[in-house]
Amino acid sequence: MKVNEIFFSIQGESSSIGLPTVFVRFTGCNLRCTYCDTKYSYYEGEPDTPQGIMDKIRSHSIKRVCLTGGEPLIQPRSEMQQLLDLLAVEQYEVSIETDGSIDVSKFRLHEGQRFILDMKVPSSAMSDKMDFANLQRILPSRDEIKFVVGTREDYEWSKNLIRQYGLDAGYQLVFSPIFADLPPRQLVEWLLEDRIDARFQIQLHKFIWDPDLRGV
Ligand code: SF4
Repeated sequence: MKVNEIFFSIQGESSSIGLPTVFVRFTGCNLRCTYCDTKYSYYEGEPDTPQGIMDKIRSHSIKRVCLTGGEPLIQPRSEMQQLLDLLAVEQYEVSIETDGSIDVSKFRLHEGQRFILDMKVPSSAMSDKMDFANLQRILPSRDEIKFVVGTREDYEWSKNLIRQYGLDAGYQLVFSPIFADLPPRQLVEWLLEDRIDARFQIQLHKFIWDPDLRGV
């Protein structure tokens, strides 16, 4: 496995927003979103093992972990599975932030572990890379679907996807505006007007710290 950084901060997104979390940012991504804010993760990093990563996670003394990137699911599958197994043995709460283009069914999640499926809207220029079958592979009671929206077109695309796949029936949906591209209030108004039963979020860490700061 190749790791870009491991750091301790608060979770800025998802249903764990605001909670202290250890972040493991893996190196490498199979996509190139126009608005990517972690380009430094594409190539920079050091090799590590599941055991070595566990040692670093343990040193932060918090039982909540976010596996992110880059795209974490392009790491060697057996090693990623081993890391998930080790985290389960020690009863960590785990979220896996994935870009939606990788088949999530190839990984066996344990109790307390979940996927955050980041659906790539048109302004990312990566919508055609999505593996939409993932929407049938995830578990509504466990996993979350995230839409990071920068334009009205992004919003309409997301809304259509929700209707097309029946995602408004029990799925955990999260909407947030692309920082600096869409005023939060505008997105809130659209969501309320259309009665979209989703959680609205801002990327909390970008309001607390400098939006370009790494390791937060
Ligand atoms: S999936 Fe994430 S890390 Fe990869 S290019 Fe898109 S925003 Fe950047």
